[in-house]
Amino acid sequence: MSVFSRREFLKRSVASGVAGGLALTGLERRAIASGAGDVGTVIDLTRCDGCRTLPLPACVGACRDKNMNRFPEPVKDVGYYWPQKKREDWSKKRGITDRLTPYNWTFVQEVAVEHGGMDHTLYLQRRCMHCANPPCADLCPFGVLYKMPEGPVVIDHDLCFGGAKCRTVCPWGIPARQAGVGIYLKITPAFAGGGVMYKCDLCYDRVKSGRAPACVEACPRDAISFGGKEEMHTLAHARANEIGGYLYGERENGGTSTFYVSPVPFEKIHAALLKQKARQDKPELFGFPGTPVGVENMTETANGIAWSMAIAPVVGIAAAVGAAYKTMKGGGDDAE
Ligand code: SF4
Ligand code: SF4
Ligand code: SF4
Repeated sequence: MSVFSRREFLKRSVASGVAGGLALTGLERRAIASGAGDVGTVIDLTRCDGCRTLPLPACVGACRDKNMNRFPEPVKDVGYYWPQKKREDWSKKRGITDRLTPYNWTFVQEVAVEHGGMDHTLYLQRRCMHCANPPCADLCPFGVLYKMPEGPVVIDHDLCFGGAKCRTVCPWGIPARQAGVGIYLKITPAFAGGGVMYKCDLCYDRVKSGRAPACVEACPRDAISFGGKEEMHTLAHARANEIGGYLYGERENGGTSTFYVSPVPFEKIHAALLKQKARQDKPELFGFPGTPVGVENMTETANGIAWSMAIAPVVGIAAAVGAAYKTMKGGGDDAE
């Protein structure tokens, strides 16, 4: 596999992207992983066909295979506990692949949208956006969500209490909760708890060792590119210019490490997804909000700052308890 320097990649992506149609081969697209520094991805909606000929989209299958040994194994009888009104137990629905669950960290949405006098059917691979300034990490009451130096946003499953604040403050509602598992069972099994939150970690273990995420490698249509964040930003712009298209993820929620490129404006995609949601009576919506409503990067709002200050002592206690527990246990679950 040839490995490009950042400069060489930039030269190629700009030159071939603008002038020659971004004619990077699949191997080239995958070889640009820097292995250090901030990384990012481009999801090109003109390339993704939803893997319609396969029983399961290749990216979804690869993610499930890769993360299988990190999926939760809850206690046998998952109980109710204060203050939860709803028991979120996905353990008997592990086969669900059309939404995000603790057992399915990416999925592909299909949406039909009219634009420019044409009907478009788009397939959207969805997962955590890996925000530049993630409210989920900043506002986690237990301080167990981290923005890693390489860019991925990662949950420490060993220490998460499953309170779901991360989901509340995420504009896309990404993290999914599994009850009946996690540290709360050891500390407050009958009194309070929630479980553990799960989401895409951008294959952090692979990224750390200079490898592309599993879903990127698995995609048969090179619809997902991976590399240095700045290179991906440049690539996304070049591709959007080339197709006269649109970009998502650059500014939303203060900027993210995931850039979607689409031939259709994202407001139209979002509206179509909303209609679809109403038709299908799906409670969850993984849309493309323009300015994330209500949670507009909470870390920068008065509410968010007040919340951060309020939770600071809890974070300190939780961190101390967590560190002690982790020392006793002797390790995490991040290995592939
Ligand atoms: S991103 Fe690639 S692997 Fe995933 S559905 Fe689209 S074409 Fe298939
Ligand atoms: S998309 Fe949501 S879960 Fe992912 S980093 Fe951003 S706020 Fe956190
Ligand atoms: S980056 Fe890794 S964890 Fe995230 S969706 Fe892709 S395969 Fe799954």
